[in-house]
Amino acid sequence: MNKAVIAIHGGAGAITRAQLSVEKEQLYINALSEIVEAGQAILDADGSALDAVTEAVRLLEECPLFNAGTGAVFTRAGTHELDACIMDGNSLDAGAVAGVSHIRNPILAAREVLEHSPHVLLIGEGAETFAEAQGLEPVLPEIFSTPERWEQLQRAQLNNHTVLDHDGGEPIDPDSKFGTVGAVARDKFGNLAAATSTGGMTNKMPGRVGDSPIVGAGCYANNANVAVSATGTGEVFMRTLAAYDIAALMEYGGLSLHQATERVVMEKLPALDGSGGVIAIDREGNVALPFNSEGMYRGYGYVGDAPSVGIYRDQEH
Ligand code: ASP
Repeated sequence: MNKAVIAIHGGAGAITRAQLSVEKEQLYINALSEIVEAGQAILDADGSALDAVTEAVRLLEECPLFNAGTGAVFTRAGTHELDACIMDGNSLDAGAVAGVSHIRNPILAAREVLEHSPHVLLIGEGAETFAEAQGLEPVLPEIFSTPERWEQLQRAQLNNHTVLDHDGGEPIDPDSKFGTVGAVARDKFGNLAAATSTGGMTNKMPGRVGDSPIVGAGCYANNANVAVSATGTGEVFMRTLAAYDIAALMEYGGLSLHQATERVVMEKLPALDGSGGVIAIDREGNVALPFNSEGMYRGYGYVGDAPSVGIYRDQEH
């Protein structure tokens, strides 16, 4: 079997469908479709799964509709702290950065850590110095700020919450949405890769790191079984090692991709009040995109097929 395929997500959360205009929904659908197509083009040209997920996540970071990179959420100190991780299922090499504020595309910094450092995870200033030495231009944290995210922080602080009720305007309620983006892919050569990038959660404590940059929690890839990128309440994904748990259920338990992702997303995470979802591709090229929240921005596409994208449950375009 030679199925090259990419899947992406732009975060999960509660839905504000009542207040959603058709035009607004279409903006999200178009952005997701275009990014799936960009990944498909790389795979079609014999590109690697690693390159496809890097580019897909870079595009998601650049898109202000999604809440990593530009449009990232604020910490309770009014700052931005971004996290990202990438893993190559062929070599089991991984690279990650956490708590960075001066790197435009954290996923590119994570890729540099994977390729050009002896380490897996670099944090804060050290990560930023390394990224700059690798040629990634430093940026001011203000480039991530948007008025919408600032207002979100004010509301969150008023209620002393990290997650709030909706105030509409976007398909997934911006106050309860988890701000992560991610991609998983299988290339023509059977290699798997996963990438995840996030601004974290609104009103998080400064210094807080979630699951996204943690190998095995929010990001995992192994050619032997599966590539996974997660979005949701990071602390629970960390405590359950959600991404690796899916791989382990497949490897040691003999579960299928569908069974393993359902077990983790629909049973193990909710048991600890974990909300969110995953995107996953197995070694055969099967795709699973389960979520236990009301919605998840998501899409996938086999090379040669039109992208299939959705936001709500039971919805695919
Ligand atoms: N999992 C991310 C975190 O906890 C949040 C998200 O998925 O949006 O940092």
